[in-house]
Amino acid sequence: MKVLVINAGSSSLKFTMFSMSKQSVLCKGLIERIGLKSPRFVYHRQGDSPTEELLNIVNHNGAMQALCHKLIDPEHGVIKSLSEVEAIGHRVVHGGERFTKAVKIDQTVKDGIRQCAALAPLHNPPNLEGIEACENFFPGVPGVAVFDTAFHQSMQPEAYLYALPRDLYKKLSIRKYGFHGTSHKYVYYEGCRFLGLDPKKARVLVCHLGNGSSIAAIEGGKVLDTSMGMTPLMGLVMGTRCGAVDAGVVLHLIKNGYTVDEVDVILNKKSGLQGVSGISSDMRDIEAACLSGNSDAQEAFDLFIHRLLVYIGGYYLLLGGAEAILFTGGIGENSHATRKALIDALAVYGCELDEEANKKRQVNAIISKPGSKLVAAIIPTNEELMIAQEAMELI
Ligand code: ADP
Repeated sequence: MKVLVINAGSSSLKFTMFSMSKQSVLCKGLIERIGLKSPRFVYHRQGDSPTEELLNIVNHNGAMQALCHKLIDPEHGVIKSLSEVEAIGHRVVHGGERFTKAVKIDQTVKDGIRQCAALAPLHNPPNLEGIEACENFFPGVPGVAVFDTAFHQSMQPEAYLYALPRDLYKKLSIRKYGFHGTSHKYVYYEGCRFLGLDPKKARVLVCHLGNGSSIAAIEGGKVLDTSMGMTPLMGLVMGTRCGAVDAGVVLHLIKNGYTVDEVDVILNKKSGLQGVSGISSDMRDIEAACLSGNSDAQEAFDLFIHRLLVYIGGYYLLLGGAEAILFTGGIGENSHATRKALIDALAVYGCELDEEANKKRQVNAIISKPGSKLVAAIIPTNEELMIAQEAMELI
């Protein structure tokens, strides 16, 4: 069975084609700068070197046409006919309260995604364009929408409500939704499989640390709490996003003459590691600057760790203890300095770092010492595979 996974952004379309019998990738790539200057098509067939082409692509329909052309290309393609594709999985950012799991796409689902666009105005509309472009080129092939928010819908009111007037929740749907849900779900189940934990009972902390970062407390496959909020701005310190700040800061900025758009740029694009270090949003640059004695970079790193520990401590308590803490995302998978700083502070929970294992670059690895009560492990995320599996299960 062949499943195509599509992640359509405002000016990009990422794709992965899976052969599900072996869960292997046949090809993947992206079309970027759609509708902008010099759109670029990057295509990587398994076993070949990636190729790049500049094409004139003005919208998602054009991107899909170029992709289909490539998929069946006699020389570079991976299928003989588009009819070989049996399902298409679409990443959709916001499913609001309506979508608590992946769903087969029909008109009602598309209307629902459109309604949720009020909560994700930059993401849901292009997600929908990707869905409609696929419908044009793969008529009759079932599409499945997999929502970033869905896995977190198991949170209870005490976790998802803000202490704001209830009317705002009822009228404007203002509450915590959480994001990275597909990644948290994949890492939870893969981590349980790898560590031999029962996914119906396990208590696990998943730390997805990348440019965007979030942590989730998961028990028996249900999310008790997660650090992102109504938007992906909340929670941990990120590459350029501030994470948790006193809402009074926003009021103060506006009262001091900053426009709403300026505050938006400050909080989303100029804060986080970038804002505090003044150097870079990239953890590799921060680590290098720390080593050369840059104090602003060191404070940015320390703040990143401090914030994480505050969440880890709170979530450990919410879970009533945990069997595992799992690291994923670009930083979680690669930054041994981050993992060391965190795990050194987790001795109180019976977690002791295995320095050697932590320093090795490896997939699925235990990095705590044997006998640790709380096991620490690296589990590389695979959101595309999770989307393909969810699509396959529904078809
Ligand atoms: P996104 O959220 O955009 O998917 P990624 O998950 O790719 O981001 O993570 C990007 C982050 O991972 C960057 O901060 C980058 O510096 C960090 N990263 C990647 N490799 C390493 C490494 N070897 N050491 C430290 N940080 C790394």
